[in-house]
Amino acid sequence: MGRSVLVTGGNRGIGLAIARDLAAQGHRVAITHRGSGAPEGLFGAQADVTDAEQIDAAFTAVEEHQGPVEVLVANAGITDDTLLMRMSEDQFTRVVDANLTGAYRVAKRASRNMLRAKWGRFVFISSVVGMLGSPGQINYAASKAGLIGLSRSLARELGSRNITANVVAPGFVSTDMTDALGEARRTELLAQIPSARFAEPAEIAAAVRYLASDEAGYVNGAVLPVDGGAGMGH
Ligand code: NDP
Repeated sequence: MGRSVLVTGGNRGIGLAIARDLAAQGHRVAITHRGSGAPEGLFGAQADVTDAEQIDAAFTAVEEHQGPVEVLVANAGITDDTLLMRMSEDQFTRVVDANLTGAYRVAKRASRNMLRAKWGRFVFISSVVGMLGSPGQINYAASKAGLIGLSRSLARELGSRNITANVVAPGFVSTDMTDALGEARRTELLAQIPSARFAEPAEIAAAVRYLASDEAGYVNGAVLPVDGGAGMGH
């Protein structure tokens, strides 16, 4: 009957592709959203990852619906791009709060049940930008690089209990986030990608599917790039 899975920000984009893929594998999949409601066929719980109380309530709802979360995919994330000279402290901390501290909040809430179950899978959605850097994305790159340290520390803390913590680092994926880029920037980015195209969300989902599986039990603290060669393994 599969595992109990929670994907944050699974109402659209990459998160939705991950949720649909894992549901198709026979898992019980829930997603968080911030008011859009759940897509057809998925259980939804409303939560903003910047709010620990909302996260706690969402986990409780998911637990009642499908049992304790065994696979957590921390996917929710935002960008707020501008060059350092123009970036306000609020712009910096807001992005880090959603992308990095948000992942800490959901991981912490999920960890107690995984410890009890002596089994768990954490998958954090980072970005090639976390390793390569990107002009105008100091806040975003810092948050995405931070996820690697978070995940590896978690692997060291919980690895002996059959719990793995890994990172998927996508390159550029066709979603609302990249649709917001201007045409000139898209052309510039494409020139740096050996595969010469952006990824489809399903290609990120396939990597998450592997890391969430029983077969990936000995993959821990890894960073799996899915970037068309843009980072060359980082
Ligand atoms: P989208 O902008 O399409 O979707 C972002 C998702 O995150 C939405 O579900 C959104 O919810 C949710 N979200 C944002 N902020 C919060 C918050 N504070 N609390 C809860 N949920 C929140 O992005 P993508 O699907 O493209 O990106 C998904 C992840 O993949 C992100 O972490 C992103 O950084 C990462 N990524 C994306 C790449 C790309 O090229 N697209 C490349 C590399 C990494 P809502 O619908 O309510 O806004």
